[in-house]
Amino acid sequence: MKCPFCQHPENRVLESRSAEAGQSIRRRRECLQCKHRFTTYERIEFVSITVVKRDGRRESFDRSKLLRGIVRACEKTGIGQMRLAAIVDEVESLLQQRALREVTSNEIGEIVLEKLQSLSEVAYVRFASVYRKFQGIRDFVDTLDHLQNNGDKTDDRETAIEIATNLEQSAEDSDRRETEASMMAHS
Ligand SMILES: [Zn+2]
Repeated sequence: MKCPFCQHPENRVLESRSAEAGQSIRRRRECLQCKHRFTTYERIEFVSITVVKRDGRRESFDRSKLLRGIVRACEKTGIGQMRLAAIVDEVESLLQQRALREVTSNEIGEIVLEKLQSLSEVAYVRFASVYRKFQGIRDFVDTLDHLQNNGDKTDDRETAIEIATNLEQSAEDSDRRETEASMMAHS
């Protein structure tokens, strides 16, 4: 950091402290050449993430939208709101750490599924059904098979099969499915 008075590149830090309600660090510095003092602030850089949807359209990553989709998939599964918000936090910080500023809606969906898998099979199947746009009962069976190979929560699985059957019955209402799909995974 060059001195704003003489452009000298070296300085020493006199004092560091938390500022802006813990959102930044304020440092008081002294130029090693001209002895002038100046202040710098250090902040975490939040970059905006672009989501590339299935049809190629782009939109900014919207955490409240993702949270709504996850909340819906987790209805009546007993998973607390705090845990669901934590999933969104985890997804967001994962995206923030990547070098790429673009992510596909598919990638986001897979990250969420990975996290739901250990929490609730019901939530997993619901989220997968909408985000992967299940076309019929075959897709549910495949997903349940996948879960069967990755855990053994039998009660959950029975509930998941019930949900799968119900969803299958209502699968004819394709408009509603489209709407849910776009809400759940930025599709
Ligand atoms: Zn200076």
